[in-house]
Amino acid sequence: MVSPMDSRDALVALDRKHVWRPFASTEDHEHKDPLVVTHAEGARLTDMGGRTYLDATGSWWCTHLGHANPRLIAALHRQAESLPHCALAGIAHQPAAELADALVKVAPKAEGDARLERVFFVDNGSTAMEVALKLAFQYWQQNGQPKRQRFLALPGGYHGDTIGAMSVGALDEVGAVFAPLLFATNDAEPIVDPAGWEAVFDGLVRELEQHGDEIAGVVVEPIVQGASGMRMYPDAQLARLRDACDRADTFLIADEVFTGLGRTGPMWACDRAGIAPDLLAVAKGLSGGLIPFGVTLASKRIHDGFRGDTRRAFLHGHTFCGNPLGAAVALEVLRIFEEDDVIARAEPKAKRMADAFARMGELPGTKHARSLGMVGAIDVGEGGYHGKVGWAVQEAARERGVWLRPLGNVVYAVPPLNIADDDLDALLAGIHGALEAVLR
Ligand code: PMP
Repeated sequence: MVSPMDSRDALVALDRKHVWRPFASTEDHEHKDPLVVTHAEGARLTDMGGRTYLDATGSWWCTHLGHANPRLIAALHRQAESLPHCALAGIAHQPAAELADALVKVAPKAEGDARLERVFFVDNGSTAMEVALKLAFQYWQQNGQPKRQRFLALPGGYHGDTIGAMSVGALDEVGAVFAPLLFATNDAEPIVDPAGWEAVFDGLVRELEQHGDEIAGVVVEPIVQGASGMRMYPDAQLARLRDACDRADTFLIADEVFTGLGRTGPMWACDRAGIAPDLLAVAKGLSGGLIPFGVTLASKRIHDGFRGDTRRAFLHGHTFCGNPLGAAVALEVLRIFEEDDVIARAEPKAKRMADAFARMGELPGTKHARSLGMVGAIDVGEGGYHGKVGWAVQEAARERGVWLRPLGNVVYAVPPLNIADDDLDALLAGIHGALEAVLR
C-alpha cells in the first residue's frame, strides 16, 4: 500500500503499473511526468510537494463553483447521513423529486414555450446523450412515424465516448477506428474557418427541408463545440435550426453537458438564442465537480408519447440514476447559482477573459483567439488533436503554476465561474507567458 505521504516516485510507479489513463497514450503514461495531486480547493490543485496550480481545465470542465466548494461538501455530507443511495426503480425520494422540479423551473424556455418538463436521471454526460437519442428514436417508433430513424448532427461535435454518443459526434482521428460500429448520420467535415458556419447550417436546414420526415432528431452542442476545439458559432444559427426542426416536426437535441450552468454567460447556451430544445443533456457542472451525475430533460410531448403499459415504456435505467448524493449536490448547485447570483457576478470575469485572450491573439504564431462567457481559447498550430505545440504550451504553463490540458493545438481555459479576480488574472497571465515562451 502506498499512502499519499509516501514517496512521489513510489506512487507514480504504482500508477504506471495498474492504472489505464483516460485519453492518453501508453507512451505518455509511461514517460510523461504526471501532476501528482493531493488537494484541490477553489481554482487550485495542490501537488505532493505542496505547490499549487491554477486549474484552467475545470478538471474536465465541471468545477463551475470551484473545487471542494464547502456548501456542496456540506450538502453531500448531510445527504450521506440519511440516504446515500437507493435505486429509483419503484421508489421516490426527496432529492430526485425536488431536483427534477428545480431543473424544470430553470430549463431553457423560449417565449411562450416551456416545453421541457420531464427529467430522466443518468450519471454522466455520455449517457445523458444516449438517453436523449434513445428517447427520440423510440418516440417515433411508437407514435406513428417509424420512418424517422436517422439523426442529423452539427459536424465536428463531441457528445461522449459511448457508441451512440460517438455516432452523432465527429468521425475524427479519435473515433475513426470505431467507424464500423457507429450508426450513420450526416457525417461531414467540421469547419476550420469560423466564417464557414453559415454554410454548415444551410446544409442542415436543406436536409431538414428535403428529408425532414426521416429525421428522428438533430443533435447540437449549442453555440460552442467544446471537445472538438472550442469552436463558437453565432446564436442566430441555433435559432434558425430550431425553426427548421419545428417546420420538419422533428426534435432538437441540445447537448449542454459542457455549455450548461452558465459556462457561456446565461444559464444555458440555448438562452443565448432564446430557444428551448425538445431534449436537453446536462452533466458536468450540474454536480459541481463533486460526484458523477447527469440528467436528460424531455418535453411533455415526448413523455406523452410513452404513456401506456410497459410495451410503450422507456425500459432504460442505470444503477446510480437519480443517486441521492448527486441529486442533493445538484440541488445545492442550483441554490448557489440563485443565492449567490453566480451568473451576473461572472460577467465582469468573462470580460477579463475576453480581454486577456484578445491580447494573446496578438502574439505571433497564434490564431483565432476567441472567448464567450467563461470560455477562452486560442489556436497555436496545425495538426489537430495530435498537434504538438499545445502540449509544449502545457509544459510551459505548468512551470508558471497553471494547469492546462490542450485539445491538440487548441489552448483553452474554463476556470470556475466564481474564481477570485486575482486568481483569474494570474491564470491568464500564466497562459500568456507560456504562449510567449513557446511561440517566441
Ligand atoms: N457532451 C459534451 C458536449 C461534452 O463536452 C462531454 C464531455 N467532455 C460529454 C458529452 C460527455 O460527458 P462525460 O464525459 O460525462 O461522459
